[in-house]
Amino acid sequence: MSEFKDATNAIRAGARQTQEQENSEAIFMTSSFAYSSAEEAAGKFSGNEEGNVYSRFTNPTVEQFEKRLATLEKGEAAIATSSGMAALMTLAYSLLSAGDRIVCSRNIFGSTTKFFNAYTRKFGVEVLYVDATDYAAWEDSINDNTRFCYFETPSNPLYEVVDVERVAALAHAKGALLCVDTVLATPALQNPLTQGADIVMQSATKFIDGQGRCLGGALISSQALVNEFTAFMRSAGPCMSPFNAWVLLNGLETLSLRMTAHSSNALKLAQRLENHPAVEKVNYGGLPSHKYHELAKRQQKDFGGLLSFVVKGGRESAWKVINSVKLMSITGNLGDTKTLVTHPATTTHGRLSDEEKAKAGITEGLIRVSVGLEDIDDIIADVEQALGQLTE
Ligand SMILES: *Cc1c(COP(=O)(O)O)cnc(C)c1O
Repeated sequence: MSEFKDATNAIRAGARQTQEQENSEAIFMTSSFAYSSAEEAAGKFSGNEEGNVYSRFTNPTVEQFEKRLATLEKGEAAIATSSGMAALMTLAYSLLSAGDRIVCSRNIFGSTTKFFNAYTRKFGVEVLYVDATDYAAWEDSINDNTRFCYFETPSNPLYEVVDVERVAALAHAKGALLCVDTVLATPALQNPLTQGADIVMQSATKFIDGQGRCLGGALISSQALVNEFTAFMRSAGPCMSPFNAWVLLNGLETLSLRMTAHSSNALKLAQRLENHPAVEKVNYGGLPSHKYHELAKRQQKDFGGLLSFVVKGGRESAWKVINSVKLMSITGNLGDTKTLVTHPATTTHGRLSDEEKAKAGITEGLIRVSVGLEDIDDIIADVEQALGQLTE
């Protein structure tokens, strides 16, 4: 464990200077590493000598990102992957065997559902979905064959908050692991590993980058589990590019400050939306009226930058609002300095069946906003003029 506090670790943890004495961490844009002799090469390849061999195995820039992220997540180790979904694949293929069961929240990222349904089931893994805040359902579904439980908190886009300690206790009672996706909270707002989770999954593409530039993902856990993930990585290769690792390493330096600013802007927008006549419902954990406000307050340092709301009039109204925005970007991403607006039912969750959407609460009138860092007055003005189109 680090001797320094989080703000210091975000800037210093994992940093490694070369003989060139650079102050900003170096980008090691190299696929392999060269040796002075055949003997040295043999020593490195056999593992008898420490050192780099090939960037699918280790890369110094990627390692700096992994060390810094592990420190901030309060985990023993981390493994970086080419995207968030690559982290999920690494988790699944490292840990699962035919006959195992996964118990998973229904309210998860659309591609996560697709991956579990199409690419774990076909190898004989059983996937059970539960309402993540129904703890009796978790208890009923976790059996002795359960390898891991999986949920997002807070969830995207409905801001469902799941009690990490509670599900961890139920999983551990049956010898199962708990993996939590805290992409929306980031390590700046929540550390599930200190709340009973065994593994944290991150899409670094989102707030860790924070400026919508590149893809990346990670799993953070005990050294023993990360060793299992590393063995898969070396054979299968969903590794992070050194350039992306460098961008994301720098993203971690300002993550906490950005999350505070995202949270402050999102709360102000949520408060304004809550009182708007064209809006039926606002999903944001920072609102005292939100179903999971108290739990979010207990588990998180702040409420983050993502909210969603339902407009009256279904898809027609939602699309009218989205088509009327002037400042916000219409895109499926989240966690950017720019404010982003999305219609989940026809984009991020468009690959789900109507029945899956209904069960996950993705209605046609739902609009998601990833609140950026522009002046909040400008963001509110844009949302209000777009909503104004509905009453004209
Ligand atoms: C984006 C996202 C993912 C997937 O990450 P990619 O980097 O896009 O592969 C997983 N979970 C959540 C909650 C996300 O928002």
